[in-house]
Amino acid sequence: MKFPVDYLEQMKELLGDEFPDFLASYEEKPERSLRVNGLKLPPSRLVELTSFHLEPVPWCKEAYYYQHEPDRPGKHPYHAAGLYYIQDASAMSPAEALEAQPGERILDLCAAPGGKTTQLAAKMHGDGILVANEIDRKRAGALVENLERCGVSNAVVLTENPTKMTKRFYEYFDRILIDAPCSGEGMFRKDPATMERWSSRLPAKCAELQKEILAAAIPMLQPGGRLVYSTCTFNPLENEQIVEWILEEYPEFQIIAVPQLEHYQSGRPEWSKSNREDLRLTGRLWPHHLRGEGHFVAVLEKQAEELPRKKRLGKGKPLSPDAKKLIEKFWKDTYHQKLTRGHFVMFGEHLYLLPEEFPSIEGLKVEKPGFYLGQLKRSHFQPSHALALASHSDQVQHVRNYAADSDELRQYLQGDTLQSEGNGWTLVTVDHFPIGWGKASSGYLKNHYPKWLRWDRK
Ligand code: SAM
Repeated sequence: MKFPVDYLEQMKELLGDEFPDFLASYEEKPERSLRVNGLKLPPSRLVELTSFHLEPVPWCKEAYYYQHEPDRPGKHPYHAAGLYYIQDASAMSPAEALEAQPGERILDLCAAPGGKTTQLAAKMHGDGILVANEIDRKRAGALVENLERCGVSNAVVLTENPTKMTKRFYEYFDRILIDAPCSGEGMFRKDPATMERWSSRLPAKCAELQKEILAAAIPMLQPGGRLVYSTCTFNPLENEQIVEWILEEYPEFQIIAVPQLEHYQSGRPEWSKSNREDLRLTGRLWPHHLRGEGHFVAVLEKQAEELPRKKRLGKGKPLSPDAKKLIEKFWKDTYHQKLTRGHFVMFGEHLYLLPEEFPSIEGLKVEKPGFYLGQLKRSHFQPSHALALASHSDQVQHVRNYAADSDELRQYLQGDTLQSEGNGWTLVTVDHFPIGWGKASSGYLKNHYPKWLRWDRK
């Protein structure tokens, strides 16, 4: 294979001692694999029905490696009948990691030709809503064909720019898969044409597009929802550094260990800017370590900022001593007067204040069990929007007041970060009426105006 010189240099530098093994993997033929379509038959039935030479793929229980000759499953009528999908084994890892469930609302944002969409559809058993989007209309044709071949009945296919979808699907999805367009370094062995499109500038360009897609996707995810980000490239700019960017820009996200990480290699914190340890929870699939092409997978969970609507509250619990410390610290740092009296109740990590001597609400249908004060995070208390709007500006230590017709107020309502001195939770007021929270630090006021209330930019 004739590799771009810059590519080889890049991989040598990244991999060090591992580089010779990595390079040797290009001498091997790519593995062939298929995934049995659970909408039509269980994997064991396909084993009975065919004489294919099948060996299980460790991280996908519906999938097998086969022998190109003599099996040729792509030419078999079972393929036309949608009994399986021919898919690289590594490319099965992102949809496995999403853990889609029947009855959920799932978005596959970069979907064509549909390998992962059909995999997600099988996990949903036809129950729930699957939105498959592909910006490129030509490629969307193949996506539709594959969905039809596989007998998927609960999918809607869009050919939108993701930025156009954000508003329509605001916090709509339980889970989102972003199998991002990328520089394709992991595909050089299987598809040498990808190598011709590569240049040393391509990864940085792709990273910009990946951020744009993510920025459009993230607001579409419900609080408490899961996002899987994957690529088929090795470049850290498009992998660890993108996950790092998500965590910095969207602090409501945290990395969850990729399911089945034991079969893959870990992501590399040392290839990020911040060297954060939790990047080890992401997964790298290397052709010199497993039977498949190159891939990267990260699982991120969006913390519930406020109580997710439509979800049951569950049972209330009294305030734990640790939670009490956090709320008392927040109160002392933020308000002039002592912590309000009343009956504090936790629903999960959400803190409510109930009127004292209020009768028990257990067993009743409750939409809001009292005054929502905010959310207890691991190390701090995050006040609710409701608390800001129920406060008076003279009760709060740090207040930032803007005139109703000022540019700053408009920027705040649009979600921008503003300049501000001071430190800590700051009540933003319009003509002295509270309108929301900000958090001041290092000369800036981080915007905590709720995302679902933000004003459009004209
Ligand atoms: N998930 C697919 C599968 O498993 O079959 C493969 C997806 S491929 C890695 C990435 C896809 O993203 C391509 O089909 C490409 O057309 C699409 N894409 C390119 N630019 C995009 C954009 N700005 N927004 C969304 N998708 C885009």
